Amino acid sequence: MASDINSLAQALEALPGREPVPLLALRLPQLERVAWRQGKRAAQRVEREAASAFVRAARPVLRAGDLTAHDRGSDVFIIVLSAPSREPRMPSAPDCRAVLERVAAAITLRVDLQIETGWALLRDMEQVRDIERGIELALERGARERERYEFFAAIGHELRTPLTSIRGYLETLIDGGVDPVTSRRFLETARREALRMGRLLEGMFEFSLLDLSAQALLGRSCEIGAQIELACEVVRPLAQQRRILVHRAECANASTPVEPDACLQLLVNLLDNGIKYGRDGGTVRIGASVEGGRVVIAVDDDGPGIAPSERESIFGLRVRGVQSASRPGTGIGLAIVKMIAERAGGSIAVCESPLGGARFEAALPLRAELETPVS
Ligand code: ADP
Repeated sequence: MASDINSLAQALEALPGREPVPLLALRLPQLERVAWRQGKRAAQRVEREAASAFVRAARPVLRAGDLTAHDRGSDVFIIVLSAPSREPRMPSAPDCRAVLERVAAAITLRVDLQIETGWALLRDMEQVRDIERGIELALERGARERERYEFFAAIGHELRTPLTSIRGYLETLIDGGVDPVTSRRFLETARREALRMGRLLEGMFEFSLLDLSAQALLGRSCEIGAQIELACEVVRPLAQQRRILVHRAECANASTPVEPDACLQLLVNLLDNGIKYGRDGGTVRIGASVEGGRVVIAVDDDGPGIAPSERESIFGLRVRGVQSASRPGTGIGLAIVKMIAERAGGSIAVCESPLGGARFEAALPLRAELETPVS
């Protein structure tokens, strides 16, 4: 059983040593919403379940002398790694994160609510006495860490595809046997992707990829057919690794008010997924048509598809679906696709594909024709 937070602070004050100890905090911010929507009793039930998952998950990772606490009616759970037997004396940052991850995973599994985590050091008695402030600091620090993680994960995700593409083209050229015209095309694609990587890196210092300023996407437009052709070139080496044919179906001649790099990113992310989740030796198809004043880009694959229950959630940041278990990934690609489509005033959806797998449809606005000036 976890004690309440006040008793934990008193127990800490009574400890003989005066070394800093890590305070680990977990919070269920959605608990308040449960109370509001489903009533107090439902929230109390969820809180009890979370508390028992907390105690059960914490027990095997903690040592005698580590402390846990939770106040009835509160959405906060805390652990203090104060065991005198810890070696080295002060647990490292990865140790704290590992404990938090394990306990948070056990709670989420049980109550299926979003969970915030973080840790901070309690350095002296003053901080022990003001433990509420310590909890706040731990959670603030956790939020900053999550933001940084998401930012770098997004950058990593977006740089990985161009890098794989460039490497694939260079390896094919080194292996030899490619005619001069094709060699030139491969080199041009590799160069274009290297330039795009450079632009991504430059952009990284100006804004987070997850918060591309709407301004950056406005004012420029691109030709859908040309971007689809480029995207197919980019993913060709990835497709070859799995002997997948990337088939370019009919593409309407349409222009959309999306910045060309952002449009390419959207297309590459969708093709990349089609290739990743499609069958070995299968087909991924991409095409575009104009429907109801919009250009609709469809990417089809012959993989396992996406269950109706997951068709909305997979566009969330860091959400990975059931099909992702055996495939590498970060759950970021589709969140970026959604952001690009929506910032341009478009939308993205997924349904079943005639090829048997998933069909992703991105609907983007058509570029308004320039008004003819009145003479
Ligand atoms: P990642 O592929 O890195 O997990 P994404 O954001 O690109 O992240 O995709 C989110 C989830 O959507 C994946 O984990 C996977 O479950 C599902 N998904 C995406 N594309 C496909 C696809 N073409 N076929 C089946 N599932 C897919």
